[in-house]
Amino acid sequence: MKKIENAIQHLDRKMSEKDQGALIPFTEYLSMITTAPEAMIRNVFQVFYHMIKTYVGEGLDEYPDDPESIQFVYYDCCELFVKDSDHPFFADRLFANRLVNLVESLKRGAQQNKVYIFEGPPGCGKSTFLNNLLRKFEEYANLEEGRRFEAVWRLDRKLLGGFAENEALPLVEKLTQLLERHRDDAIGEPDDLPVAEINGDYIEVPCPSHDNPLLMIPKSLRRAFFDDLFKNNEFKFKISTEKEYEWLFREQPCTICSSLSEALLTRLKSPKKVFEMLHVRPYRFNRRLGDGISVFNPGDKPLRQNVLTNTLLQRRLNSVMRDSNQVKYIFSQYAKTHNGIYALMDIKSHNAERFIELHNIISEGVHKVEDVEENVNSLFLAVMNPEDKKNIQSFQSFSDRIEYIKIPYVMDLQTEVEIYRNIFGKHIDAHFLPRVLHNFARVIIASRLKVKSEPMLEWIKDPKKYRLYCDENLQLLKMEIYTGHIPAWLTEEDRNRLTAKRRRSIISESEKEGERGFSGRDSIKIFNEFFSAFAKEDKLISMSDLNKFFTQTKSELSRSIPENFLKSLVNHYNYTILQEVKESLYYYNEEQIARDIKNYLFAINFESGAQETSTYTGEKIEITEDFFKTIEMHFLGNGISEDKRRAFRKNTQKDYTSMTLPQEIMLEGKDVTETKLYESLHERYVHNLKEKVLDPFLENENFRRAIKDYNEEAFKTYDKKIKGDVTFLMNNLISNYRYTELGAKEVCIYAIDNDLARHYTKN
Ligand SMILES: [Zn+2]
Repeated sequence: MKKIENAIQHLDRKMSEKDQGALIPFTEYLSMITTAPEAMIRNVFQVFYHMIKTYVGEGLDEYPDDPESIQFVYYDCCELFVKDSDHPFFADRLFANRLVNLVESLKRGAQQNKVYIFEGPPGCGKSTFLNNLLRKFEEYANLEEGRRFEAVWRLDRKLLGGFAENEALPLVEKLTQLLERHRDDAIGEPDDLPVAEINGDYIEVPCPSHDNPLLMIPKSLRRAFFDDLFKNNEFKFKISTEKEYEWLFREQPCTICSSLSEALLTRLKSPKKVFEMLHVRPYRFNRRLGDGISVFNPGDKPLRQNVLTNTLLQRRLNSVMRDSNQVKYIFSQYAKTHNGIYALMDIKSHNAERFIELHNIISEGVHKVEDVEENVNSLFLAVMNPEDKKNIQSFQSFSDRIEYIKIPYVMDLQTEVEIYRNIFGKHIDAHFLPRVLHNFARVIIASRLKVKSEPMLEWIKDPKKYRLYCDENLQLLKMEIYTGHIPAWLTEEDRNRLTAKRRRSIISESEKEGERGFSGRDSIKIFNEFFSAFAKEDKLISMSDLNKFFTQTKSELSRSIPENFLKSLVNHYNYTILQEVKESLYYYNEEQIARDIKNYLFAINFESGAQETSTYTGEKIEITEDFFKTIEMHFLGNGISEDKRRAFRKNTQKDYTSMTLPQEIMLEGKDVTETKLYESLHERYVHNLKEKVLDPFLENENFRRAIKDYNEEAFKTYDKKIKGDVTFLMNNLISNYRYTELGAKEVCIYAIDNDLARHYTKN
């Protein structure tokens, strides 16, 4: 029993804490405003902006010092669209920037009285986008950070004279209500109306339009009022100068509030007493009840009657005001989302009718509810398929009241890959050789882009010069730009030509892309087929697999991919991994190089056959022809004749004895490594090392087998040199280029089997 009592008590406490519906007197509300004006004085556009900024953050600019930056930055939209969502939506970088720009302009108040239509092809996820956006808005608007207040009149019956006692008799009331409901059926009266509460001596009349309480201050007195309230602080300056606060001086309360306050003033003859009856409470958002947020589907039938009222409350108002005509408690469904969000999911069927009605309303800003005017100021959102445009196009006058925001298929490869990871699990990465998963995304995105791009060709006049890295249509380069990356392989000249103006025209081309090609749904299906066909326990998915999938396994898909794109993608891949292998094989052991050069400079002063201790390294050296040859090959390259080597040695010795030793070392006191001769030998040494680095990849069956056998029992049987090279290569690929051991082996075998070393050294 005790337990139950505790549990109920706990529940009671928790639920009371949650009950934020308690009324706050207007004066108390004003003192809340002075402590946090920016949070307390917000219209729906400002709250919407704060919501997006709270969840999305500031955005990351990868090139903060770039003078040509156009603020095309990375926004992390996870909190907004992915986290805790049953159906996540993935906003790519292009769309995220578009969305943030939109909310910024909404907040500035530049473009109100418009419908914002998110227009995207089937399978782009636009309904998921709208659902998730509204879910987050509802959550945020009900949090303290997003909270706003609405006006509630608390009428004091004692002060106003009130109605006779018997009027409150429950039985009579019920009877009257029943009779009236019967009569009202003709005009309809849904159940979820604001309910007047008789709370002892008070009648509470909530504003059905969720009016901001500050609007009850007569318009002509507001400036003076805020001057008094904020003195001369920064916020006062803000509200009086910034466009986003214009609403505070422009908007009027709804007719119910204004007629009520007028009637009260007539009765009480004291504005102070009127304001004592004004209270505020948090504006609660509830999408399911249509409070503050309403979303209509095309199949939702229109209400039989759009005029809503509350008979019981009307009767009490009449009674307390002693005049039935003074305050008419009628409003429309639009009042419920005044200061909130009204959204249409697709513009067809009943939603097309709603849209047309909406358009007429927002053109005027007000509409008639019976003979009463009602303000309508909401954030109007809709999503639409491009082919449904015909449903509204016949209305010429619409264009200036509609703003389209494109919501195309994903065109940023990072986001495309994120989608695969989200749907199939993060483990998919482990099944791919590095770069191959992203290359799959590139193929998908290529189908969505325009093949010929004017802005790209205007920027890069001669795409052929990048044939090692890029396709002839520069789609691969464009994808990098869309994902916020400027590739390092661009020439200095082209990098400089990427001006803010060119960037803008490239990015704005994305507005016309992503409407065809593989849809979001397609790409998931294709990825699933690809992954099931090629993911194996003991083998990683390679570029050959990718190529095979699109050209053989599913050759019908290649029709959607631009010609030669796959070939260029493979070329780009080959070139890149060859660079990785080259860097990983290059044995840059500075200590070894220094020791070789110092010993050589010491040894050339002796005849072959001598045995001496080097003064530079302290090493005992057997000065033989072989000793000279090994080091001289590093200076001069392979296959150099003995005569040439001897001549080189003689010249070097001459330089050493005439310049290096007497002048630089003895006179100037330089270390041997600081001398000109040393530097030139060092340069030759390093150059030849790099030139030769791919030699093992050319016609060396032994090397190929050693890679296959790496870390197996058989690896021990190879000679020391091969073992050393292979181990070095593997370790570098793993630590510098994110390969697993299996991946490092496979990528080397791939390079050997495709003869990449020969192919690219020929070029
Ligand atoms: Zn009102």
